[in-house]
Amino acid sequence: MITFKKIDATHAYAGMARIQGSSIGFVPTMGALHDGHLSLVRRAKEENDLVIVSIFVNPIQFNNAGDLEKYPRNLDRDIVLLESAGCDVVFAPDAAEMYPEPIEKHYDFGGLETVMEGAFRPGHFNGVAIVVDKLFRITLPHRAYFGEKDYQQLAIIQALVKQEKLDVEIVPCPIRREHDGLAMSSRNERLTEQMRAAAPAIYQWLLHARAMAASHTAGEIEKMVIAETQKNPLLRLEYFTIANEETLQAVTGRISPGDRAFIAVFAGDIRLIDNLKLI
Ligand code: AMP
Repeated sequence: MITFKKIDATHAYAGMARIQGSSIGFVPTMGALHDGHLSLVRRAKEENDLVIVSIFVNPIQFNNAGDLEKYPRNLDRDIVLLESAGCDVVFAPDAAEMYPEPIEKHYDFGGLETVMEGAFRPGHFNGVAIVVDKLFRITLPHRAYFGEKDYQQLAIIQALVKQEKLDVEIVPCPIRREHDGLAMSSRNERLTEQMRAAAPAIYQWLLHARAMAASHTAGEIEKMVIAETQKNPLLRLEYFTIANEETLQAVTGRISPGDRAFIAVFAGDIRLIDNLKLI
């Protein structure tokens, strides 16, 4: 496995691999890797000749300076994990390499970017789109792998590819969970023991929502989940929304196929998100 810190070296390597006829699978990450990330890497390895993984904590997608500062980082450990998962190339630039000057671009994703995460994290998806577009142009992938854990991000990347006419296939990958149902996340590392014990309730609320989906309206399910969260002193609900998985717009009445429940919760200052298809 090779590790590059520079854009030019990575781009030249990817370009050469393409000329030689290799297919390239790309997995963008912010490091502090867990089995959720590694499941994407393994899938990329199965479906491509060469796997490139980027590790870059992208400052322009953080709307909260404390969150950026406290975001877990462990490049040495990540490199060991990636090697064992079959990664061929790690691209780990620093912020000066990625943004020698500020990027002013402003994307419009037709409303996908203004709801849920976009409403609570202003500018977040613009920062995501800028970095992913740039990473695609550096790593030249045939396929890029994204987790459904960040479902809204996945929808926005699909819109970005269409809008920018990028020649890359976006491959959605299922959410990996801990044994107690908590969605794997780099941020879980920061949970105290008590918070960690409380956090699987998030998945339980989603399961409860799914169990109610056939017989209740979105409004009734939302009311139930809000009431459940209020009983839990360690978790503070930011939003619970039932939305159509293509438009991401909120559903109000009965639940239809393709509707999904989305949740964001704070444990202390640690923000956790999850989602589940309802029908
Ligand atoms: P991140 O490092 O958090 O930016 O995540 C990098 C990629 O890994 C994104 O496509 C995420 O959706 C994906 N990912 C993160 N956690 C999980 C998980 N628990 N299951 C599946 N994919 C995940």
